[in-house]
Amino acid sequence: MRPGPPFGEEAHVVAPCCCCGKVAQLQTLWTKSNPMTRFHACPKSGGRNNGCRFFCWVDDEMPPHEKGVMAWLLRRMRQLEQDIERMRAREKKLWVALFILWVVVVFV
Ligand SMILES: [Zn+2]
Repeated sequence: MRPGPPFGEEAHVVAPCCCCGKVAQLQTLWTKSNPMTRFHACPKSGGRNNGCRFFCWVDDEMPPHEKGVMAWLLRRMRQLEQDIERMRAREKKLWVALFILWVVVVFV
């Protein structure tokens, strides 16, 4: 992999200008086959008829081992985010139960 700026320092990446005159936008892929891979695309891309097709990679392709590690990290991150959501829902239920218990103790 080419030595580039660490992730998050996108300001150092010079955005190329597209043939249609727009400054290409820096975007990051988070797919399993291309995790954390940055590319430039024209802001007019994606349109059906007049869509511009300008596209170029910023990062070289990751070695297979790094791709595997990245995919595992992404999967683990999603699992942890789901765990947090479940814990928050449980905390909410416990607060409601605590409130009901308090009402029962105070008023009954
Ligand atoms: Zn363009």
